Amino acid sequence: MTDNIDIYESFEDMNLKEPLLRGIFSYGYENPSSIQQKAIVPFIEGNDIIAQAQSGTGKTATFSISLLQNLNEHENSMQAIILSHTRELALQIKNVIENISSYLKIKINLSVGGTRINENISELNNIPHIIIGTPGRILDMLNKNYINRNTIRMLILDEADELLSKIFVNQIYDIFKNLPSDIQVGLYSATMTQDFFK
Ligand code: AMP
Repeated sequence: MTDNIDIYESFEDMNLKEPLLRGIFSYGYENPSSIQQKAIVPFIEGNDIIAQAQSGTGKTATFSISLLQNLNEHENSMQAIILSHTRELALQIKNVIENISSYLKIKINLSVGGTRINENISELNNIPHIIIGTPGRILDMLNKNYINRNTIRMLILDEADELLSKIFVNQIYDIFKNLPSDIQVGLYSATMTQDFFK
């Protein structure tokens, strides 16, 4: 991470759209946590991000706020994919985004293993703005063209060290191959091994 990074000590200073700011406050967040002070705005400005912070320090809201700010809710298209290594975590992310985006008109889909494929497909046919899921199901939906890869502009890897571990790395590679090459990427992780940077 760069040393000369700007610190935003309040959510108001981040120039967020008004309904998003209202959602953050009404969810009960008053001030940004340390990672939020540093990592929300650089992603909003269009940079790819690698952000490291321990669990429980507000990583989920970090990428959720950046992503919601950059999303165009007036455009009916699939714009972002969030990858998670467990179904439970994917569901938690969905809950956080639903809460923070309560004043925005956003459609969110959960594409995880262990759920009915037909329901998953019909939700995707409804064109969600954000798709949150586990690698296997997301790849399946991409391969079968239920996810419209051409309109996806942002890809988030939560617990990126897990997603880039041996278990998932091939699927992640295939997901990247399926998406536009100029996609904006955010990697968020509590730990980072050397493999991470290869
Ligand atoms: P996470 O690290 O994303 O799992 O978040 C840990 C906990 O901190 C969750 O309960 C969040 O709702 C909470 N949290 C995240 N950001 C803030 C904030 N700015 N103010 C208060 N609580 C927060």
